[in-house]
Amino acid sequence: MKNWEQNVRKVTPYTPGEQPKQKKVIKLNTNENPYPPSPAVLAALDGIKENLADLRKYPDPAAEQLVQAIADFYGLKTSQVFAGVGSDDVLAMCFLTFFNSEKPILFPDITYSFYDVWAELFRVPYEKQPLNEQFEIVKEDYYKENGGIIFPNPNAPTGALLPLSAIEDVVKHNPDSVVIVDEAYIDFGGESALPLIDRYDNLLVVQTFSKSRSMAGMRIGYAMGNEQLIKYLSDVKYSFNSYTMNATAIALGTAAMRDRAYFEETKAKIIATRERAKERLAALGFSFVDSRANFIFAAHKSVLAEELFLALKQAGIYVRYFKKPRIDNYLRITIGTDEEMEELYKFLEHYLAH
Ligand code: PMP
Repeated sequence: MKNWEQNVRKVTPYTPGEQPKQKKVIKLNTNENPYPPSPAVLAALDGIKENLADLRKYPDPAAEQLVQAIADFYGLKTSQVFAGVGSDDVLAMCFLTFFNSEKPILFPDITYSFYDVWAELFRVPYEKQPLNEQFEIVKEDYYKENGGIIFPNPNAPTGALLPLSAIEDVVKHNPDSVVIVDEAYIDFGGESALPLIDRYDNLLVVQTFSKSRSMAGMRIGYAMGNEQLIKYLSDVKYSFNSYTMNATAIALGTAAMRDRAYFEETKAKIIATRERAKERLAALGFSFVDSRANFIFAAHKSVLAEELFLALKQAGIYVRYFKKPRIDNYLRITIGTDEEMEELYKFLEHYLAH
């Protein structure tokens, strides 16, 4: 090792899902929305083109227009909303802002695999709490002393939903630490913890445009909580990079957030497809947690997940496979369009028959 290497911050980075180069694949591997963004986004893009010269200017560091649209959608004050470059950016800022204790932060053993990466990066001590045999979060595991708590609801990659009452219990038991509920998938059938932010000043709810709003490519996420939490989060952001969000993302995100009807429509379509997928996958011999997200985490009764993953990939159908303890016999299958799902079932019917 060279001397200077001793002073390098060494990290094992997060591994994102594959983005295959070829166009003609059925992409059910990164929990993207199979439907395009709202048509209002296209109109907003025309506005950007017409005023292209405006791109020479810095964007609004507070992304006020977008923050206002989010606040309007949820009936909040703008001082209760923080926007960032995807929820990954928002969550990273949260780790930096709220997890500064010597005590370990707590999160599930099977969960979004970015949490331990941020904890390592920012040198935050952490302790993983095992999900039970049904892949559920056990709320009592979060009643011990800690430096903060974070979990997704519904959890990823399992899709299991924790009822709002259990979340409230966790928040109530932890008045001395910040509890972050990562609601990346909440719109697909879960009950948001948002109504609790007025009652608990230690609760932060994080959501994203990447799933239910069909805009993963635009990179927009947001946090909602009481004014004081948002102020602390903003102070850290302005100490790191004032212009995290670009002008195009701010304009297009605002347009998407204002189109409630399109959001409701695409969301309902995905939920309906998911419920049909449960029946079809069960009939094919899969078992799974009752997912409330836009994916199903499924294991087959006789064929190993890794084998299926490779066979599907060869057929141009991409799903996600994690070679990790406890979950290495599961496939995480994102809900696509009905046509895409039919292709999946067709392949599986044929493959499993041999
Ligand atoms: N949280 C969870 C649980 C996720 O699965 C994802 C998607 N990878 C994210 C946060 C981040 O999504 P984004 O940065 O696209 O908002």
